[in-house]
Amino acid sequence: MFKTVCSKSLNEIKFLRYFSLEKKYDVIVVGGGHAGSEACAAAARMGAQTLLVTHKKETVGEMSCNPSFGGIGKGHLMREVDALDGVCGRICDISGIQYKLLNTRKGPAVWGYRAQIDRSLYKQNMQNELFRNTPNLDVLEAPVEDLIVENPRINSNNQTCIECKGVILRDGTRISAKSVVITTGTFLKGSINLGLEVFPAGRIGDEPSIGLANTLEKLNLRMGRLKTGTPPRLRKDTINFDVCLAAGGDKMPRPFSFMNNKVWINPEDQLDCHLTKTTLAIEKIVKDNLHLDRHVIEEVTGPRYCPSIESKVLRFPGREHQVWLEPEGFDSDIIYPNGLSCTLPEEYQWQLIRSIPGLEKAELVRPGYGVEYDFVDPRELQPSLEVKRVEGLFLAGQINGTTGYEEAAAQGILAGINGGAKALERSSLTVSRTEGYIGVMVDDLTTLGTTEPYRMFTSRAEFRLTLRPDNADQRLTPKGFAVGCVSQERFDKTLEVERLLRDGVELLKSVSKTTQQWRHLLGLPESRSLHKRSAFDMVDNQGITITRLAEAAPELLSLTHDPSLENRLHIEALYHAAAAEQLEEVQEVRRDEGLTIPEDLDYNSNSLNLSFEEREKLLAVQPQTIAAASRIPGVTPSSVFRLLRFVKQRREILPAV
Ligand code: FAD
Repeated sequence: MFKTVCSKSLNEIKFLRYFSLEKKYDVIVVGGGHAGSEACAAAARMGAQTLLVTHKKETVGEMSCNPSFGGIGKGHLMREVDALDGVCGRICDISGIQYKLLNTRKGPAVWGYRAQIDRSLYKQNMQNELFRNTPNLDVLEAPVEDLIVENPRINSNNQTCIECKGVILRDGTRISAKSVVITTGTFLKGSINLGLEVFPAGRIGDEPSIGLANTLEKLNLRMGRLKTGTPPRLRKDTINFDVCLAAGGDKMPRPFSFMNNKVWINPEDQLDCHLTKTTLAIEKIVKDNLHLDRHVIEEVTGPRYCPSIESKVLRFPGREHQVWLEPEGFDSDIIYPNGLSCTLPEEYQWQLIRSIPGLEKAELVRPGYGVEYDFVDPRELQPSLEVKRVEGLFLAGQINGTTGYEEAAAQGILAGINGGAKALERSSLTVSRTEGYIGVMVDDLTTLGTTEPYRMFTSRAEFRLTLRPDNADQRLTPKGFAVGCVSQERFDKTLEVERLLRDGVELLKSVSKTTQQWRHLLGLPESRSLHKRSAFDMVDNQGITITRLAEAAPELLSLTHDPSLENRLHIEALYHAAAAEQLEEVQEVRRDEGLTIPEDLDYNSNSLNLSFEEREKLLAVQPQTIAAASRIPGVTPSSVFRLLRFVKQRREILPAV
C-alpha cells in the first residue's frame, strides 16, 4: 500500500506515502511520537490534507520509557482522547498484555484505567492505523530543521506577530501548509547523560533536533530546560521471580475505548508483573558515586513524580523503594524495572541492580540514562495550543513542559483538531476545566506555565466528581462531533447511550418507597421512617446496587440487562448529590479568592491536612491571598478549599484589630 520514493533532490527523504511537493497540505505535523500520532490522525479526521514529517518511520508510536499506558489521572486523559475519536485508547485495547483498573478502593470518579503494553505490538498497531487506515494522511521520513514564517506585524498588544506557513527540511526542501503542529518531545537540543558522559541525542539511538530549537528561539519564544530519565532494561531469564510478589491483571479487563466492549486478549492470557523492593545497600552505591552522576548533580529540574532512584535515595534516606518488574511484551525477553530510573555509570548500575532481591544475577540489556531537553514555556500558547505570537503554529506534548504519553496524546489531539480547524477555516475546539481533564491540563499549562515536567493527577481537577472516566463520551463526543473530528458512528453510539442513561435515571427516580419499605425489601435492619426515597437516591457504594434494588422492585429489572449501562447508571446515581456539593465548594473559593492569608498561618496544622509537597510549596511561596495559593502548581483545589475554610474560621475566632 505504501508508495516509497527515493529521490536525488530529496536525499533526506527515504519513505513517503503519496507525498508530493506539488500537493497543497492543510496541516503538517512534525514528530511521530504520542502527541504527533494523535495530532496527525485528528487533523486528517477533520478532513484536512495532512502530512506527518518525522525522523524515522519505524519509531512512529515508540514508547520511549515505560511499557504501560494510563493510570490515575492519566487514564482519564485517555478516555477523553478516545471520546474525541483519538487513537491511543483503541490501540491499547489491541496491544495490552495486562489490564488493571487502579484506585478501586476509592470511588469510580478517580479510578485509573491502566494497561501494561506490548511495546512492539503497540508501535506496529499504531503504524498500521496511521499508515494504512487514515485517509487524508501522508507520511514523510525527514528531519525538519526550520519553519517558513512570513508577514511580520505588530498586534493590538504591541507585540510582533508572524505567520507560520510550512516547514523546511534539512536538505532545504520547503513544504507549505496552512498550519504546523510541532510535537518533538525530548528532542529539542536533547542531550543524553550516562555517568559523566554527555552526548547529543533526543532519545537513545535518535539524533536531537537542533535547527528547530534555534528557530523557536529566534521567534523569541520563552524557553527552558528540563530533564527526565529511564531505567536500565533487564534480561528476563536472569531474574529470580520466585522471591517477588506476582500481580496479575483484572478478571474482567475494561477497554479504554468507548467503542469496544472488551479487550483483545482473554483474561487468563494476561502476563504477570512482579514486585520487589530495594534494600539499604543501594544507598551506599548511590552516595559513594554521586560525583560520577552528571544528570543528578545538574541543576536542571526533573520529574518530581517519576524521580530517579538517586533522587529517591537522597530525598528519603533509610527507606525501601518498590520496584515493579514489568514485561515488555508477549515475545520479549526484556523486563522494565519500574522505579529504577538511573544515570549512574553503567558498572554501578549493575551493582545497584544486583543488590535487589530477585535481581542478584540479573543482566542488563541496556543501562538506564537521562535526557535533558529544551521546552517552550506553555504560557506562550492559547488554549487552542496555537502559539500566541505565531499564527498557524501549534505545539503539543513534551515540548510544552509535560511528561508522559497520555499528557502528550491529549495535547496532540487538541492541537491536531485546532490545526485542522484553522486550515479549514472552521471553529476551533477548546475544553474548559469544567469539561475535562484535557481542559484542566491546558489551563494549568497556559496560565501558570510549569517549572518541572507536568504530569496529570486527579487532584488537579476541581470538578473531579463530574469529570469521570465513565462519562468522558457524554462530556466530549458531542463537542468533537460539532467541530468535525468524531465519526458519525461514534456520535450515534454516544447519543444512544445518552438516551438509555436518561431513561434509566428517570425510571430509577420514578420508583419511590418509604425508607421503612426499602429497608424491609432489601433485608436491611428495620427503620420506622416514612420518608420517601427514590431508587435513584437509594443507590450507594455500600452494596445497594441496581441489581439489588431490582430484586426489591421488579419494575427496575430492565436496567440490569446490560452490565455496562447498569454500571454507568450506578455511578451517575452515586455522584449526583456530591457533584452538586463540589460545585458549591468551587464557587465558594472563587467568591473568596481575595481573602488574605495571615502571615503566621501554621501550614502544619492537622486540620489543613496538606500533603508534604503542598506544605513545602506553601511555606516556600508564602502566598498572601487564597487566589495566590490556588495558583501554586501542585496545591490541589481541595486543599485550597480547606485553606479557605481554615482562614475564615480563624478570622471568626480572632477578628481583625
Ligand atoms: P516523543 O514521543 O518523544 O516523540 C517525538 C517525535 O518527534 C519522535 O518521533 C522524533 O523522532 C520526532 N522528531 C523530533 N524532532 C524532529 C524533527 N526536527 N523533525 C522530524 N521529527 C522530529 N514519561 C513519563 O511519563 N515518565 C517517565 O519516567 C519518562 N521517562 C522518559 C525517559 C526518557 C529517556 C525519555 C526519552 C522519555 C521519557 N518519558 C517519560 C517521556 C515520554 O516518553 C514522553 O512524555 C512522551 O513520549 C512525549 O511524547 P511526545 O509526542 O511529546 O514526544
